Amino acid sequence: MHVTAINDSAADSLREAPTKIKATSGGARLFELPADLRGHDMGDAAVTRYSPGSVDDALRAKLAQSGAEDAFFVADLGEVYRQYAQWTKLLPRVQPFFAVKCNPDALVIKLLARLGAGFDCASKGELMQVLSEGVSAGNIIYAHPCKPASHLRYAAAQGVKLMTFDNADELEKISELHPGAKAVLRILADDSSALCRLGLKFGAEPGSAAALLRTAIRLGVQVVGVSFHVGSGCKSEAAFSDAVERARCVFDQAAALGLQLSLLDVGGGFPGRNDTTGLDFNVVARVLSAAIDRHFPQDAYAHVRVIAEPGRYFVASAFSLAVNVVARRRIEGEGTESYMYYVNDGVYGSFNCIVFDHQSPRPRLLHTRGELGVAAGTLFKSSIWGPTCDSIDCIVPSGLLLPELRIGDWLVFDGMGAYTLCAASRFNGFKLSDIVYVDSERALL
Ligand SMILES: *Cc1c(COP(=O)(O)O)cnc(C)c1O
Repeated sequence: MHVTAINDSAADSLREAPTKIKATSGGARLFELPADLRGHDMGDAAVTRYSPGSVDDALRAKLAQSGAEDAFFVADLGEVYRQYAQWTKLLPRVQPFFAVKCNPDALVIKLLARLGAGFDCASKGELMQVLSEGVSAGNIIYAHPCKPASHLRYAAAQGVKLMTFDNADELEKISELHPGAKAVLRILADDSSALCRLGLKFGAEPGSAAALLRTAIRLGVQVVGVSFHVGSGCKSEAAFSDAVERARCVFDQAAALGLQLSLLDVGGGFPGRNDTTGLDFNVVARVLSAAIDRHFPQDAYAHVRVIAEPGRYFVASAFSLAVNVVARRRIEGEGTESYMYYVNDGVYGSFNCIVFDHQSPRPRLLHTRGELGVAAGTLFKSSIWGPTCDSIDCIVPSGLLLPELRIGDWLVFDGMGAYTLCAASRFNGFKLSDIVYVDSERALL
Protein backbone atom coordinates (compact mmCIF):
# COMPACT_ATOMS: atom_id res chain seq x y z
CA MET A 1 0.00 0.00 0.00
CA HIS A 2 1.38 3.34 -1.03
CA VAL A 3 0.51 6.95 -0.52
CA THR A 4 1.65 8.60 -3.70
CA ALA A 5 2.15 12.31 -4.05
CA ILE A 6 0.22 14.00 -6.86
CA ASN A 7 3.51 15.15 -8.22
CA ASP A 8 6.94 14.80 -6.78
CA SER A 9 7.79 18.45 -6.96
CA ALA A 10 4.88 19.26 -4.65
CA ALA A 11 6.14 16.68 -2.18
CA ASP A 12 9.71 17.92 -2.55
CA SER A 13 8.75 21.51 -1.92
CA LEU A 14 6.95 20.33 1.20
CA ARG A 15 10.04 18.52 2.38
CA GLU A 16 12.27 21.50 1.71
CA ALA A 17 9.96 24.13 3.10
CA PRO A 18 7.61 22.59 5.62
CA THR A 19 6.99 26.03 7.10
CA LYS A 20 4.88 26.87 4.05
CA ILE A 21 2.14 24.47 5.04
CA LYS A 22 -0.97 26.19 6.26
CA ALA A 23 -3.54 24.66 8.55
CA THR A 24 -6.52 25.61 6.45
CA SER A 25 -9.67 23.76 7.23
CA GLY A 26 -10.62 21.79 4.19
CA GLY A 27 -6.90 21.65 3.41
CA ALA A 28 -5.07 21.92 0.12
CA ARG A 29 -5.22 18.86 -2.12
CA LEU A 30 -1.68 17.68 -1.61
CA PHE A 31 -1.87 13.94 -2.08
CA GLU A 32 -3.66 11.43 -4.20
CA LEU A 33 -6.05 9.15 -2.42
CA PRO A 34 -4.13 6.04 -1.38
CA ALA A 35 -5.07 3.23 -3.75
CA ASP A 36 -6.25 0.80 -1.11
CA LEU A 37 -6.06 1.23 2.61
CA ARG A 38 -7.83 -1.97 3.51
CA GLY A 39 -4.77 -4.17 3.43
CA HIS A 40 -2.90 -2.10 5.96
CA ASP A 41 -2.56 -3.86 9.24
CA MET A 42 -1.29 -3.16 12.73
CA GLY A 43 -1.39 -6.26 14.88
CA ASP A 44 -5.01 -7.33 15.06
CA ALA A 45 -6.22 -3.90 14.18
CA ALA A 46 -6.91 -4.12 10.46
CA VAL A 47 -8.01 -0.98 8.67
CA THR A 48 -11.60 -1.27 7.57
CA ARG A 49 -12.52 2.22 6.56
CA TYR A 50 -11.16 5.48 5.33
CA SER A 51 -13.06 8.64 4.59
CA PRO A 52 -12.40 12.35 4.28
CA GLY A 53 -15.08 13.13 6.88
CA SER A 54 -14.96 14.01 10.56
CA VAL A 55 -14.47 11.85 13.64
CA ASP A 56 -18.15 12.17 14.55
CA ASP A 57 -19.21 11.10 11.02
CA ALA A 58 -17.10 7.98 11.37
CA LEU A 59 -18.43 7.19 14.84
CA ARG A 60 -21.98 7.52 13.56
CA ALA A 61 -21.35 5.42 10.45
CA LYS A 62 -19.72 2.64 12.41
CA LEU A 63 -22.47 2.50 15.03
CA ALA A 64 -25.11 2.35 12.32
CA GLN A 65 -23.66 -0.96 11.12
CA SER A 66 -25.80 -3.84 12.25
CA GLY A 67 -24.32 -5.91 15.04
CA ALA A 68 -21.75 -3.21 15.92
CA GLU A 69 -20.25 -4.24 19.25
CA ASP A 70 -16.43 -4.28 19.18
CA ALA A 71 -14.56 -1.29 20.57
CA PHE A 72 -12.85 0.77 17.87
CA PHE A 73 -10.62 3.79 17.38
CA VAL A 74 -11.35 6.63 15.01
CA ALA A 75 -8.04 8.12 13.88
CA ASP A 76 -8.17 11.55 12.26
CA LEU A 77 -5.12 12.02 10.03
CA GLY A 78 -6.24 15.61 9.54
CA GLU A 79 -5.51 16.25 13.21
CA VAL A 80 -1.93 14.96 12.78
CA TYR A 81 -1.65 17.32 9.81
CA ARG A 82 -2.92 20.28 11.85
CA GLN A 83 -0.45 19.51 14.64
CA TYR A 84 2.38 19.36 12.09
CA ALA A 85 1.31 22.67 10.57
CA GLN A 86 1.20 24.26 14.03
CA TRP A 87 4.69 22.94 14.79
CA THR A 88 6.24 24.44 11.66
CA LYS A 89 4.53 27.74 12.40
CA LEU A 90 5.55 28.01 16.07
CA LEU A 91 8.93 26.23 16.01
CA PRO A 92 10.30 27.06 12.55
CA ARG A 93 13.93 26.45 13.61
CA VAL A 94 13.23 22.95 14.91
CA GLN A 95 12.70 19.92 12.65
CA PRO A 96 10.50 17.30 14.35
CA PHE A 97 11.57 13.62 14.35
CA PHE A 98 8.41 11.72 15.34
CA ALA A 99 9.06 9.31 18.25
CA VAL A 100 7.67 6.14 16.70
CA LYS A 101 7.21 4.28 20.01
CA CYS A 102 4.34 6.58 20.91
CA ASN A 103 2.09 5.28 18.13
CA PRO A 104 3.70 3.26 15.32
CA ASP A 105 0.68 3.57 13.06
CA ALA A 106 1.68 3.09 9.41
CA LEU A 107 -0.58 5.85 8.07
CA VAL A 108 0.60 8.34 10.68
CA ILE A 109 4.20 7.53 9.73
CA LYS A 110 3.47 7.88 6.01
CA LEU A 111 1.70 11.20 6.47
CA LEU A 112 4.46 12.65 8.68
CA ALA A 113 7.12 11.43 6.23
CA ARG A 114 5.32 13.19 3.36
CA LEU A 115 5.09 16.39 5.37
CA GLY A 116 8.85 16.42 5.96
CA ALA A 117 9.25 15.01 9.47
CA GLY A 118 12.11 12.75 10.47
CA PHE A 119 11.76 9.79 12.83
CA ASP A 120 13.10 8.80 16.23
CA CYS A 121 13.50 5.02 16.40
CA ALA A 122 14.64 3.08 19.45
CA SER A 123 15.04 -0.49 18.21
CA LYS A 124 15.75 -2.64 15.17
CA GLY A 125 12.00 -3.27 14.82
CA GLU A 126 11.19 0.45 14.69
CA LEU A 127 14.06 1.08 12.27
CA MET A 128 12.78 -1.71 10.01
CA GLN A 129 9.25 -0.36 10.07
CA VAL A 130 10.18 3.23 9.29
CA LEU A 131 12.66 2.22 6.55
CA SER A 132 9.98 -0.02 5.02
CA GLU A 133 7.65 2.99 4.81
CA GLY A 134 10.21 4.55 2.47
CA VAL A 135 11.87 6.90 4.96
CA SER A 136 15.54 7.46 4.14
CA ALA A 137 18.22 6.54 6.66
CA GLY A 138 19.30 10.18 6.83
CA ASN A 139 15.91 11.16 8.26
CA ILE A 140 16.19 8.81 11.22
CA ILE A 141 17.82 9.23 14.62
CA TYR A 142 18.42 6.04 16.59
CA ALA A 143 17.59 7.75 19.87
CA HIS A 144 18.25 5.01 22.39
CA PRO A 145 21.41 5.49 24.47
CA CYS A 146 21.75 1.75 25.29
CA LYS A 147 21.55 -0.39 22.15
CA PRO A 148 21.79 -4.17 21.72
CA ALA A 149 24.76 -5.09 19.50
CA SER A 150 22.62 -6.72 16.81
CA HIS A 151 20.40 -3.63 16.53
CA LEU A 152 23.47 -1.42 16.25
CA ARG A 153 24.85 -3.65 13.47
CA TYR A 154 21.52 -3.38 11.68
CA ALA A 155 21.63 0.43 11.90
CA ALA A 156 25.17 0.38 10.48
CA ALA A 157 24.13 -1.91 7.60
CA GLN A 158 21.19 0.37 6.74
CA GLY A 159 23.25 3.57 6.90
CA VAL A 160 21.43 4.99 9.94
CA LYS A 161 24.21 7.11 11.41
CA LEU A 162 22.69 9.53 13.90
CA MET A 163 22.41 7.93 17.31
CA THR A 164 22.47 8.91 20.96
CA PHE A 165 24.75 7.68 23.76
CA ASP A 166 25.14 8.61 27.42
CA ASN A 167 27.90 6.34 28.76
CA ALA A 168 31.45 5.19 27.96
CA ASP A 169 30.56 1.53 27.35
CA GLU A 170 28.17 2.56 24.60
CA LEU A 171 31.01 4.51 22.96
CA GLU A 172 33.16 1.34 22.96
CA LYS A 173 30.29 -0.54 21.31
CA ILE A 174 29.74 2.17 18.71
CA SER A 175 33.44 2.41 17.84
CA GLU A 176 33.59 -1.35 17.28
CA LEU A 177 30.25 -2.00 15.54
CA HIS A 178 29.41 1.29 13.82
CA PRO A 179 32.58 3.34 13.24
CA GLY A 180 30.76 5.67 10.81
CA ALA A 181 28.20 6.72 13.43
CA LYS A 182 27.43 10.34 14.20
CA ALA A 183 26.99 10.22 17.94
CA VAL A 184 24.83 12.59 19.98
CA LEU A 185 25.51 12.94 23.70
CA ARG A 186 22.30 12.68 25.69
CA ILE A 187 22.53 14.73 28.84
CA LEU A 188 20.30 14.68 31.87
CA ALA A 189 17.51 17.27 31.97
CA ASP A 190 15.45 18.28 34.97
CA ASP A 191 12.40 16.03 34.54
CA SER A 192 11.12 16.35 38.10
CA SER A 193 7.76 17.71 36.91
CA ALA A 194 7.10 15.07 34.24
CA LEU A 195 4.49 12.27 34.30
CA CYS A 196 7.12 9.82 33.05
CA ARG A 197 10.63 10.56 34.30
CA LEU A 198 13.14 9.26 31.80
CA GLY A 199 16.16 10.63 33.65
CA LEU A 200 15.95 7.79 36.15
CA LYS A 201 17.22 5.56 33.38
CA PHE A 202 19.05 7.71 30.81
CA GLY A 203 21.12 10.85 30.44
CA ALA A 204 24.70 11.73 31.33
CA GLU A 205 25.24 14.04 34.31
CA PRO A 206 26.40 17.40 32.92
CA GLY A 207 29.54 17.00 35.06
CA SER A 208 30.54 13.85 33.17
CA ALA A 209 30.10 15.31 29.68
CA ALA A 210 33.72 16.42 29.20
CA ALA A 211 35.07 12.99 30.20
CA LEU A 212 32.69 11.29 27.76
CA LEU A 213 33.75 13.64 24.96
CA ARG A 214 37.42 12.81 25.68
CA THR A 215 36.62 9.08 25.61
CA ALA A 216 34.90 9.54 22.24
CA ILE A 217 37.95 11.34 20.86
CA ARG A 218 40.25 8.57 22.13
CA LEU A 219 38.03 5.88 20.52
CA GLY A 220 37.65 7.78 17.27
CA VAL A 221 33.87 8.10 17.60
CA GLN A 222 32.57 11.26 15.92
CA VAL A 223 30.35 13.26 18.31
CA VAL A 224 28.14 15.69 16.40
CA GLY A 225 25.75 17.04 18.98
CA VAL A 226 23.82 17.05 22.23
CA SER A 227 20.34 15.78 23.10
CA PHE A 228 18.09 15.71 26.14
CA HIS A 229 14.55 14.69 27.09
CA VAL A 230 12.66 16.74 29.68
CA GLY A 231 10.42 13.74 30.46
CA SER A 232 7.25 12.54 28.81
CA GLY A 233 4.17 14.37 29.98
CA CYS A 234 6.36 17.32 30.97
CA LYS A 235 4.44 19.93 32.98
CA SER A 236 6.92 22.78 32.98
CA GLU A 237 8.05 24.88 30.03
CA ALA A 238 11.05 26.01 32.09
CA ALA A 239 12.44 22.45 31.85
CA PHE A 240 13.01 23.05 28.12
CA SER A 241 14.84 26.38 28.49
CA ASP A 242 16.93 25.05 31.36
CA ALA A 243 17.98 22.02 29.30
CA VAL A 244 18.92 24.18 26.28
CA GLU A 245 21.22 26.14 28.57
CA ARG A 246 22.81 22.89 29.80
CA ALA A 247 23.27 21.76 26.21
CA ARG A 248 25.05 25.01 25.37
CA CYS A 249 27.53 24.30 28.21
CA VAL A 250 28.36 20.98 26.57
CA PHE A 251 28.83 22.74 23.19
CA ASP A 252 31.34 25.01 24.95
CA GLN A 253 33.13 22.08 26.62
CA ALA A 254 33.36 20.36 23.25
CA ALA A 255 34.77 23.50 21.63
CA ALA A 256 37.46 23.60 24.33
CA LEU A 257 38.43 20.05 23.24
CA GLY A 258 38.56 21.12 19.59
CA LEU A 259 35.17 19.66 18.60
CA GLN A 260 32.67 21.80 16.72
CA LEU A 261 29.22 20.32 17.43
CA SER A 262 26.51 20.86 14.84
CA LEU A 263 23.33 19.25 16.19
CA LEU A 264 21.04 20.23 19.05
CA ASP A 265 18.27 17.69 19.74
CA VAL A 266 15.67 19.07 22.16
CA GLY A 267 13.96 15.70 22.60
CA GLY A 268 10.29 14.99 23.32
CA GLY A 269 7.88 15.85 26.09
CA PHE A 270 5.75 18.32 24.10
CA PRO A 271 2.08 18.36 25.18
CA GLY A 272 -0.63 17.13 22.84
CA ARG A 273 -3.67 19.28 22.10
CA ASN A 274 -6.04 19.42 25.11
CA ASP A 275 -3.36 17.73 27.17
CA THR A 276 -4.39 17.05 30.76
CA THR A 277 -1.00 18.18 32.10
CA GLY A 278 -2.28 21.71 31.51
CA LEU A 279 0.92 22.63 29.67
CA ASP A 280 0.15 24.55 26.48
CA PHE A 281 2.23 23.94 23.35
CA ASN A 282 2.07 27.65 22.48
CA VAL A 283 3.83 28.45 25.75
CA VAL A 284 6.42 25.68 25.33
CA ALA A 285 7.14 26.81 21.76
CA ARG A 286 7.59 30.43 22.81
CA VAL A 287 9.87 29.62 25.75
CA LEU A 288 11.89 27.03 23.83
CA SER A 289 12.33 29.29 20.79
CA ALA A 290 13.54 32.09 23.02
CA ALA A 291 16.00 29.76 24.76
CA ILE A 292 17.37 28.46 21.46
CA ASP A 293 17.76 32.01 20.13
CA ARG A 294 19.46 33.11 23.36
CA HIS A 295 21.91 30.22 23.75
CA PHE A 296 22.36 29.40 20.04
CA PRO A 297 21.97 32.78 18.27
CA GLN A 298 21.31 32.31 14.53
CA ASP A 299 24.37 34.25 13.33
CA ALA A 300 27.01 32.60 15.54
CA TYR A 301 25.38 29.15 15.38
CA ALA A 302 24.22 29.04 11.76
CA HIS A 303 26.01 25.68 11.45
CA VAL A 304 23.82 24.11 14.16
CA ARG A 305 20.80 22.10 13.06
CA VAL A 306 18.05 21.89 15.68
CA ILE A 307 15.78 18.85 15.85
CA ALA A 308 13.23 17.46 18.34
CA GLU A 309 11.67 14.07 19.07
CA PRO A 310 7.97 14.74 19.73
CA GLY A 311 5.73 11.69 20.15
CA ARG A 312 2.58 12.49 22.10
CA TYR A 313 2.31 15.95 20.51
CA PHE A 314 1.41 14.64 17.05
CA VAL A 315 -0.96 11.81 17.89
CA ALA A 316 -2.62 12.20 21.31
CA SER A 317 -5.58 14.22 20.08
CA ALA A 318 -5.85 12.38 16.76
CA PHE A 319 -7.34 9.13 18.13
CA SER A 320 -10.69 8.65 19.86
CA LEU A 321 -11.74 5.29 21.27
CA ALA A 322 -15.38 4.14 21.27
CA VAL A 323 -16.29 1.37 23.71
CA ASN A 324 -19.51 -0.58 24.13
CA VAL A 325 -21.21 -1.31 27.44
CA VAL A 326 -21.30 -5.11 27.41
CA ALA A 327 -22.54 -5.64 30.96
CA ARG A 328 -23.57 -3.67 34.02
CA ARG A 329 -24.21 -4.14 37.71
CA ARG A 330 -26.70 -2.06 39.64
CA ILE A 331 -25.80 -1.51 43.28
CA GLU A 332 -28.52 -0.60 45.78
CA GLY A 333 -27.29 1.33 48.79
CA GLU A 334 -29.14 3.07 51.60
CA GLY A 335 -31.25 5.46 49.58
CA THR A 336 -28.60 5.52 46.82
CA GLU A 337 -28.13 3.67 43.63
CA SER A 338 -24.92 3.32 41.68
CA TYR A 339 -23.74 1.43 38.63
CA MET A 340 -20.71 -0.52 37.52
CA TYR A 341 -20.34 -0.68 33.74
CA TYR A 342 -18.19 -3.24 31.93
CA VAL A 343 -16.87 -2.17 28.50
CA ASN A 344 -14.92 -4.00 25.81
CA ASP A 345 -11.48 -2.40 25.95
CA GLY A 346 -9.56 -2.01 29.20
CA VAL A 347 -6.34 -1.61 31.14
CA TYR A 348 -4.79 -4.73 29.58
CA GLY A 349 -5.68 -3.25 26.17
CA SER A 350 -5.67 0.38 24.99
CA PHE A 351 -6.18 1.75 28.51
CA ASN A 352 -2.72 0.52 29.55
CA CYS A 353 -1.99 4.26 29.40
CA ILE A 354 -3.56 4.45 32.87
CA VAL A 355 -0.77 2.24 34.28
CA PHE A 356 2.24 3.06 32.08
CA ASP A 357 1.50 6.65 31.07
CA HIS A 358 -0.25 7.81 34.27
CA GLN A 359 -3.33 9.01 32.40
CA SER A 360 -6.88 9.41 33.75
CA PRO A 361 -9.11 9.12 30.67
CA ARG A 362 -12.70 10.34 31.02
CA PRO A 363 -15.52 9.44 28.62
CA ARG A 364 -18.26 11.31 26.86
CA LEU A 365 -21.57 9.65 26.09
CA LEU A 366 -21.98 8.74 22.48
CA HIS A 367 -24.98 6.58 22.03
CA THR A 368 -27.59 5.70 24.61
CA ARG A 369 -30.77 3.70 24.21
CA GLY A 370 -30.26 3.31 20.50
CA GLU A 371 -29.95 7.07 19.96
CA LEU A 372 -27.01 9.35 19.37
CA GLY A 373 -26.45 11.85 22.11
CA VAL A 374 -26.88 12.04 25.81
CA ALA A 375 -29.77 10.53 27.71
CA ALA A 376 -31.34 13.10 29.97
CA GLY A 377 -32.32 12.36 33.53
CA THR A 378 -30.90 11.60 36.92
CA LEU A 379 -27.15 11.21 37.32
CA PHE A 380 -25.80 8.21 39.21
CA LYS A 381 -22.41 7.42 40.68
CA SER A 382 -20.76 5.17 38.14
CA SER A 383 -17.52 3.27 37.58
CA ILE A 384 -16.19 1.85 34.32
CA TRP A 385 -14.37 -1.46 34.07
CA GLY A 386 -12.50 -3.28 31.30
CA PRO A 387 -13.45 -6.71 29.97
CA THR A 388 -10.88 -8.99 31.65
CA CYS A 389 -11.30 -11.06 34.82
CA ASP A 390 -8.79 -8.96 36.78
CA SER A 391 -9.92 -6.25 39.20
CA ILE A 392 -6.96 -4.01 38.30
CA ASP A 393 -8.82 -3.62 35.01
CA CYS A 394 -10.65 -0.44 36.10
CA ILE A 395 -10.85 2.49 33.67
CA VAL A 396 -12.71 5.05 35.81
CA PRO A 397 -13.15 4.44 39.54
CA SER A 398 -16.50 5.12 41.18
CA GLY A 399 -17.35 8.77 41.52
CA LEU A 400 -18.02 9.48 37.87
CA LEU A 401 -21.55 10.86 37.45
CA LEU A 402 -23.46 9.46 34.47
CA PRO A 403 -27.09 9.03 33.52
CA GLU A 404 -28.25 5.45 33.63
CA LEU A 405 -26.64 3.53 30.77
CA ARG A 406 -27.91 0.29 29.31
CA ILE A 407 -26.14 -2.65 27.79
CA GLY A 408 -25.30 -1.79 24.19
CA ASP A 409 -24.74 1.92 24.88
CA TRP A 410 -21.52 3.52 23.65
CA LEU A 411 -18.96 5.77 25.33
CA VAL A 412 -16.12 7.66 23.64
CA PHE A 413 -12.73 8.49 25.12
CA ASP A 414 -11.01 11.31 23.19
CA GLY A 415 -7.29 11.99 23.27
CA MET A 416 -6.33 8.30 23.12
CA GLY A 417 -3.62 8.43 20.44
CA ALA A 418 -0.47 8.36 22.57
CA TYR A 419 0.92 5.30 24.36
CA THR A 420 -2.31 3.27 24.01
CA LEU A 421 -2.67 0.68 21.25
CA CYS A 422 1.11 0.27 20.90
CA ALA A 423 1.40 -1.33 24.35
CA ALA A 424 -1.95 -3.17 24.41
CA SER A 425 -2.02 -6.91 25.12
CA ARG A 426 -4.48 -9.66 24.24
CA PHE A 427 -4.70 -10.86 27.85
CA ASN A 428 -7.69 -13.10 28.55
CA GLY A 429 -8.33 -13.63 24.83
CA PHE A 430 -9.62 -10.14 24.07
CA LYS A 431 -8.60 -8.67 20.73
CA LEU A 432 -7.03 -5.29 20.09
CA SER A 433 -9.43 -2.54 19.03
CA ASP A 434 -9.71 -1.82 15.29
CA ILE A 435 -8.94 1.57 13.76
CA VAL A 436 -11.25 3.51 11.44
CA TYR A 437 -9.43 6.33 9.63
CA VAL A 438 -10.79 9.71 8.70
CA ASP A 439 -8.99 12.70 7.26
CA SER A 440 -10.73 15.91 8.25
CA GLU A 441 -8.12 18.06 6.47
CA ARG A 442 -7.85 15.87 3.37
CA ALA A 443 -4.17 15.73 4.28
CA LEU A 444 -3.69 12.45 2.44
CA LEU A 445 -5.84 13.34 -0.53
C1 LIG B 1 9.56 8.52 24.55
C2 LIG B 1 10.62 9.35 23.93
C3 LIG B 1 10.27 10.44 23.12
C4 LIG B 1 8.85 10.90 22.93
O1 LIG B 1 8.35 11.46 24.10
P1 LIG B 1 6.96 12.26 24.09
O2 LIG B 1 6.77 12.65 25.50
O3 LIG B 1 5.91 11.32 23.60
O4 LIG B 1 7.13 13.43 23.19
C5 LIG B 1 11.29 11.12 22.50
N1 LIG B 1 12.59 10.77 22.66
C6 LIG B 1 12.96 9.74 23.42
C7 LIG B 1 14.39 9.40 23.55
C8 LIG B 1 11.99 8.99 24.10
O5 LIG B 1 12.36 7.98 24.89
